[in-house]
Amino acid sequence: MSDTSVVSNSIDIEAIRAQFPILHQQVNGKPLVYFDNAATNQKPLSVINALKHHYEADNANIHRGIHTLAERSTTAFEDTRKAVQAFINANEAEEIIFTKGTTESINLVASSWGRKFLNEGDEIIVSGLEHHSNIVPWQLIAEEKGAKVKAIPVLENGDLDIPAFSNLLSDQTKMVAVNHASNSLGTINPVREIIEMAHAAGAKVLIDGAQASSHLIIDVQALNADFYALSAHKMYGPTGVGILYGKRDLLEKMPPYQGGGEMIKEVSFDGTSFNDIPYKFEAGTPNIADVVAFKAAIDFINELGKENIAAHEAELLSYATKALKEIEGLKIVGEAQEKVSVVSFTVEDIHHFDLGMWMDAKGVAVRTGHHCTQPLMDRFCIEGTIRASFSVYNTKAEIDTFIAALKDVIKKFKP
Ligand code: PMP
Repeated sequence: MSDTSVVSNSIDIEAIRAQFPILHQQVNGKPLVYFDNAATNQKPLSVINALKHHYEADNANIHRGIHTLAERSTTAFEDTRKAVQAFINANEAEEIIFTKGTTESINLVASSWGRKFLNEGDEIIVSGLEHHSNIVPWQLIAEEKGAKVKAIPVLENGDLDIPAFSNLLSDQTKMVAVNHASNSLGTINPVREIIEMAHAAGAKVLIDGAQASSHLIIDVQALNADFYALSAHKMYGPTGVGILYGKRDLLEKMPPYQGGGEMIKEVSFDGTSFNDIPYKFEAGTPNIADVVAFKAAIDFINELGKENIAAHEAELLSYATKALKEIEGLKIVGEAQEKVSVVSFTVEDIHHFDLGMWMDAKGVAVRTGHHCTQPLMDRFCIEGTIRASFSVYNTKAEIDTFIAALKDVIKKFKP
């Protein structure tokens, strides 16, 4: 059994766990082990309290009122924009657009940028590692514009085939859309290199940062990304909120995504003029309270330090990977050179759903299925995997519990 009361890499895990009420419960009579963090991670008290405080003290619609609550609400909302700007090192706060999440951010770019800049015969390159939300919006716009979607192949270890990507690039390539880290396998992609190669071919690049945001340092200027998308709920923040970062000159050239209040300067039946960025892309009343609480999540990550979080998670990943490899008949899917804290695997002769269900009976929450990456599952000729993914509040002791539960369940199927 490993040490539970760890002070790992200068962070005190027990003190962190105390900030997450949801972790301290029994599920099916067993202490909860929550290893489904890549789907959504849990929320600290500071986030829960920020949400509560907003509705108890400050709630009002933003940007239009002159009364005190409207001003407080607007300030808190715009403070989150500034916090996101600093978090990803964007040049200006106006380059941050609030959305429902990564999915909506990608749809915004595909619809708005795609409708204006894609033409018949153009090509969009995604990768074989993408979540459906970074495939389907491109297929939809490609269909509409007579463009083509091509995919960078995935190597056996879960890395992208970069020489093959180089061969896919051509004068027809107008957009390259890849994730920073894979939700299914954990692969960290060489996004800086991908962006450089795409730019050299004259293409724009969108990075899906859904799985990178709570683990990796993000610097959109150093990366020279044209667009970057992320979701608050994968970084200890609320569901239903995310952002799209876009370079100012690109956002200014793009038509609105949706029409409505807030996104206009003037409306008349002779014509309508649109607001400046970011408001041009924020039609209607946004998810104010959750945006406000998102700042508490960013503060939580910043206070712990991303390097410390990443070091702790890397330790958990290597500890779990080593223990999993000792189990007979278990195959790890995806052993890329660089990974975030996600480990996917299959067990010979046992369906992943059966394993997942039995693990739940033992209080262990893992993900089973295709993880919204069906082309990737096809690539490995599997239907799905069992996926364990770790956040900063997870411990080696929980991994011990998970491994013991897994061995027990496998014994049930293969006595
Ligand atoms: N991309 C990746 C890599 C993801 O992991 C996810 C969420 N599983 C998404 C996109 C979609 O994010 P959301 O559902 O928050 O819009």
